[in-house]
Amino acid sequence: MVQLISADQYGVIGDPISHSQSPSIHKLFAQQLGHSIDYKAYHVSENQLESFIYEFRKKGGRGLNITLPHKTTALKYVDIINPRAKEADAINTLIIDEEKIIGDNTDGIGLINDLEINFNQSLKNKRILILGAGGATLGILSPLLKREPKNILVANRTASKAKIVTSKFKSNFSLDACGINELDPEQIFDIIINATSIGITKQSINFPSFVITENTVCYDLSYSYEPTLFMRWSIENKAKLAIQGWGMLIEQAAASYCLWRDKKPNTSSILKQLNINASSQVLRRL
Ligand code: NAP
Repeated sequence: MVQLISADQYGVIGDPISHSQSPSIHKLFAQQLGHSIDYKAYHVSENQLESFIYEFRKKGGRGLNITLPHKTTALKYVDIINPRAKEADAINTLIIDEEKIIGDNTDGIGLINDLEINFNQSLKNKRILILGAGGATLGILSPLLKREPKNILVANRTASKAKIVTSKFKSNFSLDACGINELDPEQIFDIIINATSIGITKQSINFPSFVITENTVCYDLSYSYEPTLFMRWSIENKAKLAIQGWGMLIEQAAASYCLWRDKKPNTSSILKQLNINASSQVLRRL
């Protein structure tokens, strides 16, 4: 008799969630590795978070990705927090079995792999500005600090939140916080990372353009099939290079997949398989 074994269940939860490309990426990983998995995007609001996670586990779910705005709140529902998630005080991955739920964070390694490996950008001794102080910033700060930058400034619309976020990290390198409206026209940055959610909520840019110089590399954590608003704004203001977050998305997804199934997918062909045009992923100043 043929025994039917149902595919292992995975998913991504967030609010909003319709923009998520994670189901397509994980499907490609599974195809590549010959695995049978079922990965879906679920719209889960803050008040549904706890019941959703426990129901998902009850139904045999093996892993979840956590996206905005739940990366910090979801910490309440894990039994074990892996070290890099503890450092970040935020999670983007749950590894689930009958006995326990483990929380981890692969956002940082996703960004670092994209910048360093895919775009050959060294972070050592660089002056870095991060715009935004939400769950994504928590995930990327510690891995960025470990790259020994010259300094990192976190500027947020709500200045107090930037201060709370940076106070969680201990570093030998200079780490400061301010409001976006308190940025200093004299301060120069080599790398500017947009970690706000304006790309998703389609809000207009309200960052001061003086933060960009001709040598600045701008990286938008948001991603889209077209160049993002932040990328266009960066190049209009004479940045050298503007990159959007597809590579980070794929790299963080590969790291989560490896945590769940102990096999690291090859990420090099995924952009092409998702039909992402290289000319919209990266803009260069002419
Ligand atoms: P979040 O926790 O909801 O934080 C949102 C941040 O955006 C806050 O700092 C908020 O500032 C700021 N913000 C919202 N509207 C703004 C506006 N009009 N002007 C200035 N700042 C504004 O979100 P998150 O989880 O950190 O995610 C942030 C972005 O990163 C999202 O677009 C997400 O898709 C992207 N992301 C991408 C990847 C990837 O793999 N490529 C991974 C993680 C995240 P206040 O504190 O003042 O509200």
